[in-house]
Amino acid sequence: MIPKILLIYTGGTIGMAKAANKEMLQPFDFQSLLKNIPELQLLNCEIETLSFNNPIDSSNMDTKHWAFLAEIIDSHYKTHQGFVVLHGSDTMSYSASALSFMLENLSKPVIFTGSQLPIGDLRTDAKENLITAIQLASLQHQNRPLIKEVCLYFEYKLYRGNRTTKINTDHFKAFASKNFPPLVTSGVELKIRQQLLLKPTLDKGLNVYTNLSTDVVLVKLFPGLQASTLSSILETPNLKGVLLETYGSGNASTADWFLTLLEKAISKGIYIVNTTQCSGGSVHMGQYETSQKLRDLGVISANDMTTEAAITKMMFLLGSHQTKDFKLAFETSIRGELTKN
Ligand code: ASP
Repeated sequence: MIPKILLIYTGGTIGMAKAANKEMLQPFDFQSLLKNIPELQLLNCEIETLSFNNPIDSSNMDTKHWAFLAEIIDSHYKTHQGFVVLHGSDTMSYSASALSFMLENLSKPVIFTGSQLPIGDLRTDAKENLITAIQLASLQHQNRPLIKEVCLYFEYKLYRGNRTTKINTDHFKAFASKNFPPLVTSGVELKIRQQLLLKPTLDKGLNVYTNLSTDVVLVKLFPGLQASTLSSILETPNLKGVLLETYGSGNASTADWFLTLLEKAISKGIYIVNTTQCSGGSVHMGQYETSQKLRDLGVISANDMTTEAAITKMMFLLGSHQTKDFKLAFETSIRGELTKN
């Protein structure tokens, strides 16, 4: 069977061009994008395309776009074997993480990709990214898609989407996955690490959750953070969850004012999750006195999740009302987003 792939264009540099007489990049028509890559016709798959009516720079991405994307995938799920999402790189890791949670029991590939240079540029990285992403989405094993999860392909590597972070604005290697190895490396051959791929139970149908809570906030600690600042953040009306980016292995100030503010928030039912500012490694509350206090207060660990995965998981758990045991759900891997202890 020749796989049918849906190519969804949301926007981003890959499809941008300079407007007449202007220096800045703006999204342009999706059809022109395809004209620039005649090689796509040589791939062993059928490609169908769909574009956002108004393609966006991914800095404008929000939860409504994620819901729209999830609905597109849902409505084409039976007829297509794989999905490739063209997306700006700036928020691609957030979107890939969000979609990984929103699509439960996914048994087909959803591969995000984009580029650092527009497709029309002579030195563009867009062609390789797009062609290999489609090739990976088309891979079959025993007449079923080989990859069954949300991924991100960039600069010769296929990563689990919810393990990635954008790390560089200038290099073609714009993404890293510090706590989980790439699923596939593209060299002369595609080196697929089969043992790392998610293996969902195939008898369950896809469940799509489009309701995400935005009553959350991300607070990055820095030496000098004032009580009045943190207090006004924690007083935000309807606030349900706080992702605290702490130091090192999950350490934070032991000042009374700081711990008292957190305690007050927790007593009001606000979930506080501890993630590290470091790009690699994990939170270990209790390793130092400066994190033991957080654990004693009931702060939840994000373990080795990226900030992108942790904030979107929080939005998903709070929005889909899967909060019966928020701490347990948060600290358990549900889409391969964290390493089990
Ligand atoms: N600003 C662009 C975006 O995220 C950058 C990119 O596409 O790489 O939409």
